[in-house]
Amino acid sequence: MNEEMHPSRWGDPARAAALPDATRGLVEMVFGVYDRPAVDHPTLPPSALGADLLAGLAAIVGADQVRTDDETRRLRTRGKSTPDLLRARSGDLGDAPDAVVRPGDHDEVASVLAFAVEHRLAVVPFGGGTSVTGGLVARRAGFVGVLSLDLVRMKRLLAVDHTSMTATLEPGLRGPEAEALLAAEGLTLGHYPQSWEFASIGGFAATRSSGQSSAGYGRFDALVVGLSVATPRGRVDLGSAPANAAGPDLRQLFLGSEGTFGVITSVTVRVRRLPAVKVYEGWRWPSFADGAAAVRTLAQAGLLPTVIRLSDEAETAINLADPAAVGGEGSAGCLMITGYEGEQAAVDAKRAAVTAVLTGLGGDGTGTAAGEKWAHGRFDAPYLRDSMLDAGVLVETLETATFWSNVERLYADVKAALTAALGDPSIVLCHISHVYETGCSLYFTVAAKESADPLAQWDKAKTAASDAMIAAGATITHHHAVGTDHKPWFAQEVGPLGVSVLRAVKADLDPTGILNPGVLIP
Ligand SMILES: Cc1cc2nc3c(=O)[nH]c(=O)nc-3n(C[C@H](O)[C@H](O)[C@H](O)COP(=O)(O)OP(=O)(O)OC[C@H]3O[C@@H](n4cnc5c(N)ncnc54)[C@H](O)[C@@H]3O)c2cc1C
Repeated sequence: MNEEMHPSRWGDPARAAALPDATRGLVEMVFGVYDRPAVDHPTLPPSALGADLLAGLAAIVGADQVRTDDETRRLRTRGKSTPDLLRARSGDLGDAPDAVVRPGDHDEVASVLAFAVEHRLAVVPFGGGTSVTGGLVARRAGFVGVLSLDLVRMKRLLAVDHTSMTATLEPGLRGPEAEALLAAEGLTLGHYPQSWEFASIGGFAATRSSGQSSAGYGRFDALVVGLSVATPRGRVDLGSAPANAAGPDLRQLFLGSEGTFGVITSVTVRVRRLPAVKVYEGWRWPSFADGAAAVRTLAQAGLLPTVIRLSDEAETAINLADPAAVGGEGSAGCLMITGYEGEQAAVDAKRAAVTAVLTGLGGDGTGTAAGEKWAHGRFDAPYLRDSMLDAGVLVETLETATFWSNVERLYADVKAALTAALGDPSIVLCHISHVYETGCSLYFTVAAKESADPLAQWDKAKTAASDAMIAAGATITHHHAVGTDHKPWFAQEVGPLGVSVLRAVKADLDPTGILNPGVLIP
């Protein structure tokens, strides 16, 4: 697999593909398609950094590790949301950094930050570049230039403690690289977001990411037991015990701080033994409400499998590639995927207990075919988004979370807001993606015929959906983080005093505001 993603598409450039004929026929029927031209080699604005500044950076990290060529800067421009891709496709590279700097260790990161403070350079930490919320789009105004601080060289497994079952990883390790290093020790992290193939350990921590196996392994922030951070004011090392009562948990201050308080230079995580067995299976429910009640029952009985997700009627119909069933209430029912990972005996016991509960609640076990299909294609959907964009269909996702008593309202309100804003023809799909005893997250996917101004079209839908989330008392993000895109709603969610606390922390750790200006902090 290529290490670098395509600059204006998701993932490995070698895997870019046109829509399969059957899907194209279906898409044509629903939306009417056209082939959208993309500008493939747009030119970048020249780098604003003079030779003196570049020489100063080279003195810290080495001349080879300071890059100003067009291709490197282009690959470090923005993230991978649909608006990011649309801008890149239209040749807009206005947010490109002036230079890409690649430090090799914590001390080099710290020195680059000191240099940036001295010379008034904005610094954007870059892990895998998979942000979908504008987390890599720093404000340029007020700065001499913008540096992308690319953590790609920091890829070591620093320590493994087989007794405590922890491992310390550098931030630039991508998901597969981290798993390969741990597998050599007989261990796994078990963190598999859909962006796993390209997203990094530092990025997971900085955004409080959640993986598809979060029911079994936990969200990324729950896996972190310690971390080191380079800030413009100095080094912070946190996590000296599995748990403590030593004041507020400062680890939580840096988890989710999206590069605005400091650069995470190592992360110590809880690890598990490599699972001997993995089994994924499907369950059919008459309705989304029936399936959701079953998920809740499992969560509250302490019986969650490693993977559990539940598609609504429309998403189930699309998954089954049955266009006639889209929107047809109850036609295809709702598909639930359950997955079990671990030692054979533990998997067998959990699977038997879950099966008894789900059968008792009226679920229809469909065997392993649907589960295997999901497991096989679990990282493929983003490639399909590109093919749909090529065909003039706007595709994007958004997510939120709430307590169980509010799920029905949130689902209805966000779906209605998206449908009204996107108009006809459009499709809104949803699944329960992450589950807790007290509630769950809802993950929406939309597809609409692209208008003449798709950025404005999406902005209108996203605003309507975000307003609906906050009005329903839900969160603006369960796992995609805040970035620049969610800031107005994040401010409403935490309130004026919450914003004031964040600004105070920022002012203390980063007094000149060089770290990701404009990101996260309202
Ligand atoms: C197709 C697709 C599917 C996705 N699926 C999921 C999913 O299933 N679950 C999920 O949680 N998210 C998902 N995401 C969102 C994204 O992958 C996560 O937010 C991920 O954690 C970002 O990691 P990254 O290494 O790519 O970070 P980047 O995109 O490089 O950075 C994200 C933010 O963190 C900051 N940052 C990065 N590294 C550091 C560091 N070492 N120290 C301080 N700040 C840092 C950046 O400056 C930026 O603000 C998906 C995104 C895409 C495009």
